[in-house]
Amino acid sequence: MSAVLIKDSPNVYYFSGFTGTNGTLLLTPDKSYLLTDFRYLEQAEKETENYEIIRVDSETSETIGKLAKDFKSLGVEEDTLSWAEVRKLQDTVGNCRLADISEMLRKLREIKDPSEIEILRQAIRITDQAFEMIREKIKPGITEEEIALELEFFLRKQGATGRSFDYIVASGERSALPHGVASPKKIKTGEAVTLDYGAKYQWYCSDMTRTVFVGKPDEKYKDIYRIVLEAQEAAIHALKPGMTGKEADAAAREVIKKAGYGDYFGHGLGHSLGLEIHETPRLNTRETKILEPGMMLTVEPGIYLPGWGGVRIEDVILVTNFGVEVLTQAPKQFIIID
Ligand code: ZN
Ligand code: ZN
Repeated sequence: MSAVLIKDSPNVYYFSGFTGTNGTLLLTPDKSYLLTDFRYLEQAEKETENYEIIRVDSETSETIGKLAKDFKSLGVEEDTLSWAEVRKLQDTVGNCRLADISEMLRKLREIKDPSEIEILRQAIRITDQAFEMIREKIKPGITEEEIALELEFFLRKQGATGRSFDYIVASGERSALPHGVASPKKIKTGEAVTLDYGAKYQWYCSDMTRTVFVGKPDEKYKDIYRIVLEAQEAAIHALKPGMTGKEADAAAREVIKKAGYGDYFGHGLGHSLGLEIHETPRLNTRETKILEPGMMLTVEPGIYLPGWGGVRIEDVILVTNFGVEVLTQAPKQFIIID
């Protein structure tokens, strides 16, 4: 390829360090350009090294057209470019052929380097600490939204710049919703509460889930919790480099199936994370990608019974040379809040 064009902001940050909301990278074998507008010129100079900063006053695609006039081919991110952007680009680059590089870029981000691992460890650490804090706040009468706010406030005080995704605080019957974002519902005695949240820390995302019980749980609830935990631990134990995402998923799914709840674990076992909350490879029934040392993934089996409730337990693991290291430290034995 004569050059590659990078517009998707996590990729822009990954390659250049630039964090402004308007930035396009054009990388050629011997020169790197960052195209941005007047608002970000100074920031771009500060955040990047070895980039020639080009000020764009009107359409970015026109400037790209000028720079790319002798190019034969240009790599683009098919995944995130809009149809309108592709058409504009095609108009401006003339005979230059556009080719997709999304998978290539995804692959580069799959293996975390030591500095990324360090940042993710810290992101996970404050997420763990948030769980210690929130355990004390969960009691009958508090709303799911109030819990979400407490989490947000705590994480931000620990240095997070935001959340990885909308807080999932799902209590009682709502805990059967795998993605039940916090609602005004009040938590009552005799309910399970699923908390799924993550911090955005130095641009990297953490993610964890715990399900706790308020009051005295019945046998069925204890049983389901035990199965989910067993499935999660079976997967963590089985996970190792060289295995496919499909095989990892099966390790947990088998346990849940055997216990008779196979139909109630309707999502994949986990996903990679990094600059984005969902990255590749995934752990699900279709993933054929091979796990490699340096990958960071969640392991999050769950059982959801409509009209009753659900349980999910989620940790982040780092694939090592021989197996995995579990990074999430928050306790996951059965937690009862009295
Ligand atoms: Zn999660
Ligand atoms: Zn997750």
